[in-house]
Amino acid sequence: MPCQIIDGKACAQQVRAKIKLEVDKLKVRGIIPGLAVVLVGNDPASCIYVRNKERGCAEVGMKSEVIRLPESTSEKELLELVDQLNARTDINGVLVQLPLPQHINEEKVILAISPDKDVDGFHPYNVGRLVTGHPSLVSCTPLGCMELIKTTGIDLTGKRAVVVGRSNIVGKPMAALLLQQHATVTVCHSRTKNLAELTKTADVLVAAVGKANFISGDMIKPGAVVIDVGMNRLESGKLAGDIDFAGASQVAGWLTPVPGGVGPMTITMLLYNTLQAAAK
Ligand code: NDP
Repeated sequence: MPCQIIDGKACAQQVRAKIKLEVDKLKVRGIIPGLAVVLVGNDPASCIYVRNKERGCAEVGMKSEVIRLPESTSEKELLELVDQLNARTDINGVLVQLPLPQHINEEKVILAISPDKDVDGFHPYNVGRLVTGHPSLVSCTPLGCMELIKTTGIDLTGKRAVVVGRSNIVGKPMAALLLQQHATVTVCHSRTKNLAELTKTADVLVAAVGKANFISGDMIKPGAVVIDVGMNRLESGKLAGDIDFAGASQVAGWLTPVPGGVGPMTITMLLYNTLQAAAK
């Protein structure tokens, strides 16, 4: 069977349309979901992400408030702002754009965000609830990957899933979500031995490594669902995933492209999380 390309843009549009319907329903009840995004400094990539988040909110009819602070903002000032946002009833989601300047402790800031408003899903309370199988706000990128996997129609029960990468933002929550759907999950990392032997057993393979074209076609099981989280900027300026797309598309059953795969889902799931927080 030829490889089917999973269209992240189309999937994101469908999910956003559903979110908009739910936002409209909340509006009838006088509730407008609100997201506050705090940006410290002028990191160019962060500025683009924040602008896209603002646009995403507008698209689904949510309120967004972007608070831009100078690079020199102290940790104390940022923590005070987070406290204020936690207390506001018109704000349902609080997101502090990472990375933060060196002099600010990211962990402290993540801990300061109210778990009920932690739409990035990074707070240890939410991570703990995810791992223990309770409803929680979940990290947006892995949540988006699950939506993409859903579009294939495969039942994950008893399937072998391999996640390459164990970051707190992608790899670990991804593994927890796959486990929740009854897959048998293996998590690989930089010290994993015989990586290809493991990836070749995967019915579902998720790559979140951060190395361009790291997974070649011969590391993939024929017919597998392959989700490429990687976003690597090549010298040419082009974006490349962690999966060698040309090689993988000869073997995989389903494959996400880069760009146009996981990327569009991440902000969409942020909107989803903001909706969940508002509905609560
Ligand atoms: P991290 O750098 O935090 O984690 C990378 C992981 O890859 C680590 O667990 C590391 O292992 C593992 N790794 C590194 N080298 C190897 C190797 N040779 N073999 C096996 N595993 C290896 O990255 P993130 O999880 O934050 O992001 C991963 C990629 O996903 C990046 O390209 C990033 O840009 C992209 N990304 C895309 C998003 C999107 O919206 N599309 C959102 C978030 C990330 P170890 O722990 O042992 O060091």
